[in-house]
Amino acid sequence: MEHQVEAIHNLHKVIVDPGVRNSPMAERVRSRLPEVECEVLEEGGQISSNQDQAILYLKEYKGRFLRFCPGTKHYRCCGYRIIHIGENCPLNCSYCILKAYFQDRTLKIWANQEDLWRELRVHFSGNPETRFRVGTGEFTDSLALESITGYSRDLVSFLGEYENVCLELKSKIVDLSWMDGVRRSDRVLPAWSLNAIDVVQSEERGVASLEERLIAARTCAGNGFRVCLHFDPIIWYFGWEQGYARTIEMIFDYLKPEEIAYLSLGSFRGMPELMAFIKKNWPDSGYIYNEFVSGLDGKMRLLRPLRVNQFRYVADRLKRHGLERQLYFCMESDEIWQAVLGYTPKDLGGLQRHLLEQAFG
Ligand code: SF4
Repeated sequence: MEHQVEAIHNLHKVIVDPGVRNSPMAERVRSRLPEVECEVLEEGGQISSNQDQAILYLKEYKGRFLRFCPGTKHYRCCGYRIIHIGENCPLNCSYCILKAYFQDRTLKIWANQEDLWRELRVHFSGNPETRFRVGTGEFTDSLALESITGYSRDLVSFLGEYENVCLELKSKIVDLSWMDGVRRSDRVLPAWSLNAIDVVQSEERGVASLEERLIAARTCAGNGFRVCLHFDPIIWYFGWEQGYARTIEMIFDYLKPEEIAYLSLGSFRGMPELMAFIKKNWPDSGYIYNEFVSGLDGKMRLLRPLRVNQFRYVADRLKRHGLERQLYFCMESDEIWQAVLGYTPKDLGGLQRHLLEQAFG
């Protein structure tokens, strides 16, 4: 079952940097979007900054492809590395941090894959004793454009040579076309973000249903993969207890606890710009009017007692289903870990190390 990303049908133009006009990526995208106009930029040309989501820009990217996840020193960070393959997302979640921070909404894909492969090769084969937990779902959804780019399929195939790398593909849609490119199913972690069903219905647009995501997760488990799940952002709304309890019940209708490599819990948070963006663009999204406090990293978070209450409720239910060591918090302090789970990352030997162990199995 593949989920049709509506925004792909609305694409009306592909713009290509001259340096990648004959790249395999540009050829593939052109062949998969034969009806869509394609413009090659002139040497030194730029796209105008106010483009929209109906345009796909295949860029010759000059920056670093492998990055550290932008955690902060104030909270427990998980040591995740990002493989940067593009920017922006064709889906539309009201709480999306990308929509508030990237002025330019154009969907961008880095088409100079040879440069990406070169950088990754140097890094991963140059450090064969180091294990890397990497993912592409930080500046975009890992799979939302997969049907036209095949990027994740290329990536799993490339990374098949590197035993020291475990790739997470994080998404809110269903596209399993990358699967037949995988050489080692124990080095790829398909991942889905989940939420209370009411949040999915009211705040996430263009996404696959919860059931579709979980059916896909089960298909992956049936094919020898372990999956990751992310409850992020957990949102406070009237009736949230029943909403999250229902989603947790659904998870275990489809998955066994041992098929889940790890599951993150993150409370809705964001810089004040994100709050202002949501108020302006999604004024009916009631969760924005909750009580927030500014954290050490400048981000607004739900008041701590409310946050702990929600985390405990969700974590307790997950534990009853047999999850324990798989649970972790995204960007929370030791105090929150202690209050909810009764231990801190230090007790696990450090969060980064613990998650590497969970990822590599
Ligand atoms: S799927 Fe993720 S990246 Fe895409 S709009 Fe939703 S929150 Fe943003």
